[in-house]
Amino acid sequence: MDKSYQVIVIGAGAAGLMCGATAAAKGKKVLVLDHANKMAKKVLMSGGGRCNFTNLYVEPDNFLSHNPHFCKSALSRYTQWDFISLVEKHGIDYYEKTLGQLFCKTSSKEIRDLLQKECQHAGASIQLKCEVNTIEPIEPTEENPSRFKLTTNIGEVDCNSLVIATGGLSIPTMGATGFGYQVAQQFGHKIYPTRAGLTPLTFSGKQLEEFKSLAGNSIEAMVSCKDQSFKEAILFTHKGLSGPAILQISNYWLPGEPIHINLMPNVDIDSWLAKNRAGHPELSLKNCLAKVFSQAVASYFCQLLGINCKLKQLDHKQTAQVVELLANWTIYPSGLEGYRVAEVTLGGVDTSEISSKTFESKRQPGLFFIGEVLDVTGHLGGFNFQWAWASGHAAGSSL
Ligand SMILES: Cc1cc2nc3c(=O)[nH]c(=O)nc-3n(C[C@H](O)[C@H](O)[C@H](O)COP(=O)(O)OP(=O)(O)OC[C@H]3O[C@@H](n4cnc5c(N)ncnc54)[C@H](O)[C@@H]3O)c2cc1C
Repeated sequence: MDKSYQVIVIGAGAAGLMCGATAAAKGKKVLVLDHANKMAKKVLMSGGGRCNFTNLYVEPDNFLSHNPHFCKSALSRYTQWDFISLVEKHGIDYYEKTLGQLFCKTSSKEIRDLLQKECQHAGASIQLKCEVNTIEPIEPTEENPSRFKLTTNIGEVDCNSLVIATGGLSIPTMGATGFGYQVAQQFGHKIYPTRAGLTPLTFSGKQLEEFKSLAGNSIEAMVSCKDQSFKEAILFTHKGLSGPAILQISNYWLPGEPIHINLMPNVDIDSWLAKNRAGHPELSLKNCLAKVFSQAVASYFCQLLGINCKLKQLDHKQTAQVVELLANWTIYPSGLEGYRVAEVTLGGVDTSEISSKTFESKRQPGLFFIGEVLDVTGHLGGFNFQWAWASGHAAGSSL
């Protein structure tokens, strides 16, 4: 490790490596450092080992932030098509799993290797197992234009531009820390309260016991909370509910609020029930529901309704109850599974004091924040990596 760099990036994850490679390709002397023993650990574990690296349908609406306009500039200047070209340049095979989500055919290691090769090719140095103890702003001089001095476990380094790319708090065992928030606070930035996002919902008491007995069953559903809805699978687990639709809604749900689930979102439920009743009057409600759900799930819903009769025996009130449950099953989770399993962290560095073009702090010249440490969080489906690539590229290009 040399002593002086034009650019130091703290965090060799998705955003930091993209930023380091982009700045180095412009001829800057760049060091990307990380306290972990491996780079891009979250890339490696992402997408079930196949990295859902972007999405074909990226829109600003796919991101949550207190300032919904902030993400627009970077996302439009480095798009999903730019990253797909890079993936193709590296000969990585990929496929669309569902809803525009692009995954590696072989392994997420290929995306890690892509980032490493881009850094190597551009001449960016990467230093792992490097802990930053202090960051001090210094007066640039004619001999040394550096604006920051860093003390680390392996010596002092200085740089003209310092990029914070340390990500959020999710999965501490993968190296996640609150370091980026501390740096932001050191330089007077406001932090929006952080909370775990894209995480399963937990339940307690009798409902938990019931869900446990259904663990492994999944349903294609429309899950809604406030004005947000997601039509994807829900999955019963030993702790409560998971599956893509539940992870998506966890970004919007707050404790105490109800979640509404349409269990047959592709069907006019009234007509479906009426048609079954006319065609199969002797069929039990349970066996009718078992045409759509597993036997266990069908039994559970009959139990919830307290109805166990033939379709022809359903009176008006019961028919309305069945339709209401199927169209609007309302649940009250007791909590979220939290940072241990969350894919992302909501909240973070307030973007109102960050340039949306360069990602430079408006408070401290030469200091930049990119990726998940910012108050920008994507939906499930490759959007969080696209934010890492886009913000990393925007900052790297401006350095
Ligand atoms: C299990 C899981 C699966 C996911 N799957 C997907 C997916 O398929 N598609 C998708 O779009 N998103 C996915 N995500 C989200 C995605 O991984 C993150 O949004 C993305 O990695 C954020 O990029 P980043 O560079 O900002 O932060 P990170 O990738 O988290 O990188 C931050 C880096 O900073 C380092 N660091 C932290 N603190 C310090 C410190 N004090 N000193 C030095 N270095 C430090 C860390 O070691 C890490 O290398 C997944 C997340 C998880 C947890």
